Amino acid sequence: MTKPGKLLIITAPSGAGKTTIVKHLLATLPELRFSVSATNRARRPMEINGRDYYFLTTERFRQMVDQGAFLEWEEVYTDQYYGTLRSEVDRILAEGKTVIFDIDVKGALTLKMTYGDQALAVFIQPPSLEELIKRLNNRKTEDATSMKKRIERATHELTYRNQFDCTITNDDLAVALEESVALVRHFLGKTP
Ligand code: ADP
Ligand code: 5GP
Repeated sequence: MTKPGKLLIITAPSGAGKTTIVKHLLATLPELRFSVSATNRARRPMEINGRDYYFLTTERFRQMVDQGAFLEWEEVYTDQYYGTLRSEVDRILAEGKTVIFDIDVKGALTLKMTYGDQALAVFIQPPSLEELIKRLNNRKTEDATSMKKRIERATHELTYRNQFDCTITNDDLAVALEESVALVRHFLGKTP
């Protein structure tokens, strides 16, 4: 049985800056714990298994789907699966901490529906699609095929913005980070 507690869902199209914002929130607010998702995508050079994701084979991912291990999962890109582990969320809530998620818009809506007012769902808005593409290019993590998939999906995902509790525009990073911290402090009841 999941303990009551708070959940902070950060979502956006790829390249909008959610990983950057989530890392800053984790470094700033000690009550937050990151929900490490499972995926079958290849690990990027800087990523660590168990810290950034649990990197699984496609077969193992499917087995875990069959076992009901995921609170939600999505085929975010063709043949690329990502899922939120029930065990991660239960463990973090049992520790009395607030769970923070970095997930796609559909998964974010599923979690918001599951947890209702226990959860705050925040959409990170890039200043424009052009800027988002520039950031993805600068990040140098995607090949041409992956870039194409991400840009196509981003165009669609940007239309989901109004379905979330609030939006933070990530134009000037310092401003976005400050706004994010203020928003989360408020959600956690830490502001007067
Ligand atoms: P996401 O997790 O949403 O895919 P990232 O956090 O990886 O996005 O950010 C994408 C790239 O853009 C990274 O290289 C990151 O350093 C950079 N970035 C993030 N926010 C900004 C910003 N406000 N201005 C310029 N570059 C940014
Ligand atoms: P990336 O490959 O850039 O790490 O992530 C691609 C997309 O998958 C991002 O939008 C990321 O937030 C999303 N994602 C990561 N973990 C999960 C998850 O557990 N569930 C869902 N639905 N999406 C996820």
